Amino acid sequence: RKLGYAIVGLGYYGLDVIIPEFAKCAHSRLAAVVSGDPAKARRVAAAHGLPERSVYSYATFDRIRDNPDIDIVYICLPNAMHAEYTIRAARAGKHVLCEKPMAVSVAECEAMIAACKAADRKLMIGYRCHFEPCNVEAMRLARAGTMGKTRYVRSEHGFVQRDPSKWRLNKALAGGGSLMDMGIYSLQAARYMTGEEPVAVTARESTDRTDPRFREVEDMIDWTLEFPSGAIASCQSMYSANQNHILLMGERGRIELEPATRYADNRMWTGADGRERDVTPAASGRTQFAGQLDHLVTCIRTGREPIVSGAEGLRDLRIVEAIYRSAREGRTIRLASGTKA
Ligand code: NAD
Repeated sequence: RKLGYAIVGLGYYGLDVIIPEFAKCAHSRLAAVVSGDPAKARRVAAAHGLPERSVYSYATFDRIRDNPDIDIVYICLPNAMHAEYTIRAARAGKHVLCEKPMAVSVAECEAMIAACKAADRKLMIGYRCHFEPCNVEAMRLARAGTMGKTRYVRSEHGFVQRDPSKWRLNKALAGGGSLMDMGIYSLQAARYMTGEEPVAVTARESTDRTDPRFREVEDMIDWTLEFPSGAIASCQSMYSANQNHILLMGERGRIELEPATRYADNRMWTGADGRERDVTPAASGRTQFAGQLDHLVTCIRTGREPIVSGAEGLRDLRIVEAIYRSAREGRTIRLASGTKA
């Protein structure tokens, strides 16, 4: 049988992006919804043929324990709620797929990993790019050494954040600004393109604090990662311009993706000195979202760890905390975990 997912949070990502993807999954199906809006939850459940007993509020969430239709909980809530709902899901005996960023602190990530371990449940992070054809192919080429030794990676991600009332601009709910949202893609790209863990980070921030959108969180943040091989990654995120780009420079050539990490229509080139060959993989009809949903099911069935497990989210949060610290203190922060991924 297909394993059943409960979607927690019927906002943009959970409702508009993820729920329609179950139709394309081989091993996953929608089994329940969890929402603070009862009318919306009932409407979504009815539209997908779910029974009344598969509709939960945040208050009744823990009763998912008694629902055998639910195997996995997919958390699509604001960042500061990820830890609480992951831990409650694990305690209810369910596996967890949690959206990025994994949480808003290293301490929360560690508590989430511990809760899932104690309950013997899988924990995966919604790092969809590991299932996106351009990124998968770029990783393969980079790791195979096709471009020679990797010397430099650049990655910039951002969009124009217009609405000052959004939770993404509220420090308590988002945990931070553009770094916690789009910067995670730049950071991930630096790590999965090099296959290395950084040994040092140097960051600086630029935010107009008189702008009503940026009273609590940063707009632009720019950081450099140093890797054990000598490779350097120059990364950036912002909430005041649209950008979506990854560039890897090896000793024999480059790989470039732009747009790099969108939901669809990403593009990719290789070349000795520029965008010489369009090597965008042909669309397979299988989306990154369906790939991600089915991957966790396969891991549950085979006992394997997800390729983007809680440990992977924790690694990123350790670096995120160092990026903020470096920007705040105006100095390079050395990282303890400079080991191969
Ligand atoms: P959203 O604002 O559209 O949805 C958030 C949902 O959480 C809403 O249904 C809202 O009602 C609910 N919610 C519950 N308590 C809340 C509270 N106290 N304040 C605000 N909302 C509350 O946000 P979204 O864009 O769907 O993002 C949700 C999560 O998904 C975030 O962690 C985000 O980083 C992640 N996300 C991931 C991707 C991706 O490509 N992987 C894309 C978008 C969002």
